Order: sequence, then structure tokens, then C-alpha cells
Amino acid sequence: MTLLIVGSVALDSVQTPFGATENAVGGSAVYASYAASLFTQPAIVGVVGEDFPKQEITNLRRRGVRTEGLEIVRGGKTFRWGGRYGDDVNQRETLFTELNVFQDFAPKLPKGYHDIPNVFLANIDPDLQIDVLGQMRKPRLVVCDTMNLWIKTKPASLTKLMNRIDVLLLNDEEARMLADTSSLAKAVSKLRGGGIERLIIKKGEHGSMMFSSEGTFAAPALMLPSVKDPTGAGDTFAGGMLGWLAGRTLTEVNWRKAILVGTATASFCVEDFSVGRLRDLEKGDLARRTTELRAMMSVGRV
Ligand code: AMP
Repeated sequence: MTLLIVGSVALDSVQTPFGATENAVGGSAVYASYAASLFTQPAIVGVVGEDFPKQEITNLRRRGVRTEGLEIVRGGKTFRWGGRYGDDVNQRETLFTELNVFQDFAPKLPKGYHDIPNVFLANIDPDLQIDVLGQMRKPRLVVCDTMNLWIKTKPASLTKLMNRIDVLLLNDEEARMLADTSSLAKAVSKLRGGGIERLIIKKGEHGSMMFSSEGTFAAPALMLPSVKDPTGAGDTFAGGMLGWLAGRTLTEVNWRKAILVGTATASFCVEDFSVGRLRDLEKGDLARRTTELRAMMSVGRV
């Protein structure tokens, strides 16, 4: 086990211009785990109710994901999220968020989890992210994602968490909201000024940017003709990136390569609903897309 992932394990109901799902498997930890499993053995920490399909846990295990840290609450109801996308799939409306079993979740990490060297605090209540991080011994890397709901409802917990992480991952709108400014440039400098070593801003179909003392890096996303459902793209990006990095040194050049790997992995996620395209994805499938990305980024002398 090289990567611990704590986050939501969900049943999602999603509407896009291309179809709809009801109670399909989702959640930040699930998307990230599928993606990371291409490169490493992720260990998931989360909670579900008895209504969560057992087959979905088997599917995760089949990919090598460790699930001893996934608690099943007897008689409990799984976290549920509903969202709708318009014709512009970059615009998402949350229809409902039901925390259910996450409301009273007090994780106790299984044996062997405390020493996992890399930790991904995927999107979930920041108090839970703090709780899990507090149980870890001395991780070499702590990466955190969050979203508008927690920025609005738990700002104090997020501030506390920011002091304990190495890398913050956010979309551009959330970065501006967290830094309380309409300028992304000001948000980046404010968030980095808070002591975060590395900041990664996700910009949906426009790619991502990474900021650190070693420089600024920008990566495009692939132009995809067949986007069906963007749900989970950010978590898949993070899972692919961190799964690839988990067994490597944390140099600037590896971070940049990891961003390309994450981008290529996320490009598959959006091609189907739920984890449909991720379940059987193989490392080899990524090669053509990472090559395409590299070609999009290469310039000769100017
Ligand atoms: P993304 O599209 O990468 O932002 O992630 C979508 C996933 O996040 C969905 O599968 C949801 O179940 C999950 N999600 C939505 N809202 C929350 C929340 N407040 N906390 C944790 N996970 C959430």
C-alpha cells in the first residue's frame, strides 16, 4: 500500500444532455482509487450503508484497491449526491447532497494504514480529512482537495487543514472562493502565501496549472468528441497523478509528468457515466493519450 485515499463513497444521480443515472457508484474516493489503481495499490478509507452494492466493493478489490478501511454501517444509508449538467458541461448544478452515514463517521484506520507514505485527502468534510491525517505517522506527501460546499460551511476547519498539507488541489472557481477574491492570480498568490508548497488548479476542459517555488506549469486537456458525464473527472485526475507519483521521487519534472498522466486518465472518466470507463481501463490505454498531450505541449525554439 503506497497511497491512502480518504473521501466520499457515493451513490450518484446525474443528469447530462447525453443521459442520466440513478444511484450509480461514485464519490471522490472511488474515482480516485480506480485511477490510482492503474499504478499502485491504493487503500481506501470511507463509509457506506448496507444499501451499497457489494459487487461494487468486489469490483474495487479486483483492481487491487484495499478496502479494509471501508466501513459498512448496518442498516445505514450511503452518501448520496445529485447533479445536473447543461449543454455546457463545464456548468454543474448540485441538486442534493445527503451525507447519511458520513454524518457520524469516525474512522479508525486499520492496521498497517498509519505508515502509508502518501495521503490523498479527497473531497469530503474537512473535519474528517483532519481526523484521518491525525492518525497518520509521518507521510512524505499530503495532498488535499475540497469543494464549494465545505468552503462555505466549514471555513475554520479548512484553514486548520491548510497548515498541515503539502499540496492543494482545487478548481479555479473554488480557488477564488477560498481566497475570497475574483482574481485567480491573486487567489494563487494568497493560497501559496499561506505556506502550501504546491498548488494545482483544475480548469476542466481547459486543463490545469501547477504553481510551486520551482516554477509554473500549464497543461492542456485533450479535446474529446464524446464527453458523456464529467462527474469525477477531478478525482480521477488526482488519482492518476498521485498513483503514478506514489512510487517516484517528488521532483518538479515528475510532478509535471504526473499531471499529464492524471489528465490522460481523466479523459477516459468523462467518456461514460459513473465509473463505466474506469472499471476495465488498463495502463496501456493511456499511452496514446499521453503522447497526444505531449505533442500538444511541445514547441520548438521561438
Ligand atoms: P468531481 O466531479 O471530481 O467534483 O467529483 C464528483 C463526485 O464528488 C461525485 O461522485 C459525488 O458523489 C462527490 N461529491 C459531491 N459532493 C460532495 C461532497 N460535498 N463531499 C464529498 N463528495 C462529494
